[in-house]
Amino acid sequence: MQVEVLRVGVVGATVVAMDSSFPVDDLGRFARQVCFEGLGVEGQRRLRAGRALVCGCGALGSIVAGTLVRAGAGLVRIVDPDVVEEVNLQRQVLFDEQDAASRALKVTAAAAKLRLANSDVTVEPILARATHENIFSLCEGIDVIVDATDNFPSRFLLNDASIHLNIPWIYGGCLGAQGQTMTILPGRTACLRCLMPECPLVEATPTCVTAGILGPIVGVIASIEALEAIKILSGREEAVSRNLTVIDLWTNKIRQINTRSLRDQVDCPACKQGQLSWLSGSSSPGILPE
Ligand SMILES: [Zn+2]
Repeated sequence: MQVEVLRVGVVGATVVAMDSSFPVDDLGRFARQVCFEGLGVEGQRRLRAGRALVCGCGALGSIVAGTLVRAGAGLVRIVDPDVVEEVNLQRQVLFDEQDAASRALKVTAAAAKLRLANSDVTVEPILARATHENIFSLCEGIDVIVDATDNFPSRFLLNDASIHLNIPWIYGGCLGAQGQTMTILPGRTACLRCLMPECPLVEATPTCVTAGILGPIVGVIASIEALEAIKILSGREEAVSRNLTVIDLWTNKIRQINTRSLRDQVDCPACKQGQLSWLSGSSSPGILPE
């Protein structure tokens, strides 16, 4: 890619090359992140062409989508089947009391607010839950998938889709004051099933209804996920985390579990053996894996 450099701008203490193909208005909007050396003008230009699927538009999805839209991604596709309820407002930052009172669709209310934040970004609200039947159309033209769901069957589906379509994805989940996240570059890093060969039983898995959830851990995990997506969309994969990050904000513990060698150590049913049963539909929330 040839970039014509017309002038050099000084922003704060950092000198950055200004790409003449980048609209001046956008440079103004993004000046504070473009002058960050890791991103730069070229990273911002690539981010502007990037397309993200944010699967789920609740607590994690609100922050991930909001961050990507404000950062200047090209397209953010948000997918969620639910309406806004009062109990969501404690942590789902894109919604307000009016949305809850009118039981607005989450994707509709979110899209309206995201467009107000940055009208230059294409926001695609899709009223659906990701399934093996719609996942291919949801992933069409997408460069990165961000997990903002609240259940493992959906994550196992995203993992299969990522492997089959060769699209990076970012796993993230929160419960109580704990959260974890891991970025998967298919074929290059460990996938979710390298870590967790079988899907936990839904009925045995605590949820935010049974175990509660605190807003700050959502903010931390969603922010990590959003920046991992920005790294991928801006072509800075060398900066992507190779760790499973586990954070407990209540007990003040942060663990980084190196997953670099995990893919070599396990005979993963998904990324090694190619058993993508969640993508084929032979495994689903109501059907135990074969
Ligand atoms: Zn794997």
